[in-house]
Amino acid sequence: MNNFRLPYHLIVQEGIFEQVDKVMADYVPDINNKKAIIVTDGNLQQLFGKLISALQEDFGDSEVYLVQNNYFDDAVALAKYVCMNNIQVIIGFGGGTVLDLAKYAAFVSKSMYLCLPTTLSNDSLASPVAVLGTEGKARKTFKCTIPDAIIVDVNVIMGAPEKQLMAGIGDTISKYTALNDWKLAHTVGNSHVDDFAYMLSKMAFNTICFNEEKELKSKSFIKILTQALVMGGLAMEIAGDSRPASGSEHLFCHALEENYSEQVNVTHGIAVAMGSYVACKLQNRNIEKIIRLLKEYRLPVKPSTWGITEEIFVGAWQQAAASRPDRYTILNEADLSYERLAGFYREMESLF
Ligand SMILES: [Zn+2]
Repeated sequence: MNNFRLPYHLIVQEGIFEQVDKVMADYVPDINNKKAIIVTDGNLQQLFGKLISALQEDFGDSEVYLVQNNYFDDAVALAKYVCMNNIQVIIGFGGGTVLDLAKYAAFVSKSMYLCLPTTLSNDSLASPVAVLGTEGKARKTFKCTIPDAIIVDVNVIMGAPEKQLMAGIGDTISKYTALNDWKLAHTVGNSHVDDFAYMLSKMAFNTICFNEEKELKSKSFIKILTQALVMGGLAMEIAGDSRPASGSEHLFCHALEENYSEQVNVTHGIAVAMGSYVACKLQNRNIEKIIRLLKEYRLPVKPSTWGITEEIFVGAWQQAAASRPDRYTILNEADLSYERLAGFYREMESLF
C-alpha cells in the first residue's frame, strides 16, 4: 500500500489569515520560533499587502519570496535557499502557480508547508502533485506531498472573481469521468484502484453534485467547495498518484495547453469540465447528469467562448492520449474520428 500522510490542520473561517500563527501554535507550539518564508507573487503582494505584512510579523519577521516563474528549476532554487538559510516553514500564499512552487520547494527542502490559498480554482491547494515548467512551454506534473496545513480565509475567497469558484467546481465535476477512466485502467492492468481513494474522490464529486446552496459567494458554499477540493487532494495522496482526479478530460486540457496555447486561453477547471462532457459521451454514460451540473452552475463551457474552434477541439482530443502515454483511459479504446468529435463540438456549441 502507498504510504500517505494527512494535513494536521484544515480550517475554513472568516478572517483566519489574521490568526495563522495562533491556530498553528495549537499544533506546533514553538512555530513562532521557527524561521519562515512567505511565498507569493507581485500581484498578490499589491492586493494583500497588509495581510502579508501582518503574516511576516507573526512569523518572526519572515522574508517574502516573490514568484516570477514557476519552473522546476525555480522550485529547486528556492528549496536550496531554504536549506542554506535554515528556514523551517514555507507559507504558500496565492493561487495554483504560487502554491505548486511553494509545495514542491517544501517537499525538496523537507520543510513544513502551510497552504494559504487566495482562490479555489482547482484542487492544487490540497493535492500531492505540483505542475511545474520544464523547458519552454512544456510542463510536467511532479509528485510531492500534501500540505501540513490548509487554511482558507472565507473573506479572501469571497473577494475573488466568481469565475474562479466556477473553475474549482469544474475541476470537481471532472472527477466523474476521471474515476471511470481509473476503473477502466484497472481492468486492463494499467493501474490499481484503491477503494478508499476512489470513495473519497466520489464523495468530492457528490458534494458538488448534490449541493443545494446555489449562492456561490456564500460562506456555506465556500466551505462546501473547499471540502470537495480537499477530499480530491486526499484521494490522490492515498492513491499515490493523480488517477482519482485526472482522466481523459484532463488529457484534453493538457493537449490544449501544449498545442494551442497561442489561440486558446482557458482556465484548467473550465477546460477539464468541458473535457468531461466528451469523456462522458466516449464512456457511454448518462450525459444528462453532466449537462445538468454544467448548466446548474452556469459553467462557461461553450468552446468558442475561449477561442476553441472545431479544428482545435478535434485536434486536442486526437492528441490528448499522447500528452500522457502511460495513462490508460477511454481514449485508448474509443472512436476518435473527426466526424464524431466534431459532432460533440456542435452539440456543446448549441447546448451551452
Ligand atoms: Zn484538475
